[in-house]
Amino acid sequence: MAKPLVAVVGRPNVGKSTLFNAIVNKRISIVEDIPGVTRDRIYFDAEWLNREFTMIDTGGIEFITADSHVIPKMMRLQAQLAIEEADVILFVVDGKQGVVPADEEVANILRASGKPVILVVNKIDSVNQEANIYEFYNLGIGDPIGISAKNLMNLGDLLDDVVKHFPDGATTEDEEDTIHVALIGRPNVGKSSLTNALLGQDRVIVSDVAGTTRDSIDTHWTHDDQKFVLIDTAGMRRKAKIDAPVERYSIVRSLRSVDRADIVVLVLDGVDGVTEQDKKIAGYAHEAGKGIIIVVNKWDLVEKDDKTTLRYTEDIYDEMGFLRYAPILFASALTKQRIHRLADLIKFVSEQQHMRISTSVLNQVLSDAQNVNPVPSRSGRLPKIYYMTQASVKPPTFILFVNEPELIHFSYMRFLENRLRESFGFEGTPIRLILRGKK
Ligand code: GDP
Ligand code: GDP
Repeated sequence: MAKPLVAVVGRPNVGKSTLFNAIVNKRISIVEDIPGVTRDRIYFDAEWLNREFTMIDTGGIEFITADSHVIPKMMRLQAQLAIEEADVILFVVDGKQGVVPADEEVANILRASGKPVILVVNKIDSVNQEANIYEFYNLGIGDPIGISAKNLMNLGDLLDDVVKHFPDGATTEDEEDTIHVALIGRPNVGKSSLTNALLGQDRVIVSDVAGTTRDSIDTHWTHDDQKFVLIDTAGMRRKAKIDAPVERYSIVRSLRSVDRADIVVLVLDGVDGVTEQDKKIAGYAHEAGKGIIIVVNKWDLVEKDDKTTLRYTEDIYDEMGFLRYAPILFASALTKQRIHRLADLIKFVSEQQHMRISTSVLNQVLSDAQNVNPVPSRSGRLPKIYYMTQASVKPPTFILFVNEPELIHFSYMRFLENRLRESFGFEGTPIRLILRGKK
């Protein structure tokens, strides 16, 4: 059976090669960009969510040149080729540069083709650059998706989008109302035990999806009518015999699981506490806007008095200050203490991620907040916040329309975030506040 074809179209230097390298998961040698040289290796195999596909680098078809006036011609050819060959077209643009005329021309050709096109705004290297994606709406290709090919940010979301467009995409059909969960943690904190305890109470629907070569097997289960998928369960359930702790908590593998997850359950060992690697993974999940739950496992081994839980809670939040919104569950996979609450907690955090607040209610909270604590002026200039609106869920994202974004200090954003949390909860989910200038 032929694999779906995904074509990547875009001007030189927008980051296509970088994206290829990130997606195909093996280093590909790219011929130097010498004028007149045709790159020969233009087809690459890739896989996502058990769907195999082939990627075509249309930039490798025509000769590459730094000479700017040939670029539009080259791009037309690329687009043509992509339209003829591909099932899905990734149109990559440069989020740092913004829209350029060649982008518009290609957009017109692609739009007219009727093929599925995903507009990929690359070089969105951090959350605060996300506002850069808005101007690409002008290309008329639909919702742009911001990624950083270099920092591997948002690639999971992008690929989710890609495979959705494949013909006979039945495997991902019912995924919409399914909560994807990744259990993350150092070796020996009890992930396998926790997995077994968690699944033990419910009927496991599907396991070991056929056709996977890698160790990336997902487990589907249902609890109280809610569908869940536990990502990358294989390594956990049939406990690896090989003693390779480093391999088993390899950052890269954990990051990929996080990418695919809606909610990340960070498992800590009640005796050992938080490690540097835990912080890294948690930080990544936070930046990626995932729901986060902390499980302190092996609670049975901890000697307790009436202050122990409080002290642990404070220690964890001190270590990972950015994670104060994450609920902490003190549990034991061995004695099953509080294990029954984990599935409900995951469902609860999922609801918090999807919460939508009406603009009128938001602005009531905003004006109350400003009454309590007006925005301080900066270098003699007075910042103004006109109004705010919720742009999206998962994570809840709010756009604040202000006179000048530079005038609003980070600490004031933190204050507003806290007010939103006090008013609405948003437990277990990061929230994002984006400033937008409006004169
Ligand atoms: P191509 O010509 O479209 O294939 O682009 P390349 O993949 O060769 O990337 C062009 C330049 O953009 C390189 O210097 C990359 O390091 C850089 N680049 C690629 N992706 C990103 C990204 O996500 N963020 C940033 N800041 N730079 C990137
Ligand atoms: P993984 O490497 O994170 O998957 O950890 P395992 O689930 O394999 O657990 C590592 C060891 O910790 C095993 O010997 C488990 O029996 C033990 N263990 C796991 N959970 C608990 C717990 O809640 N309490 C106690 N006392 N031991 C546990």
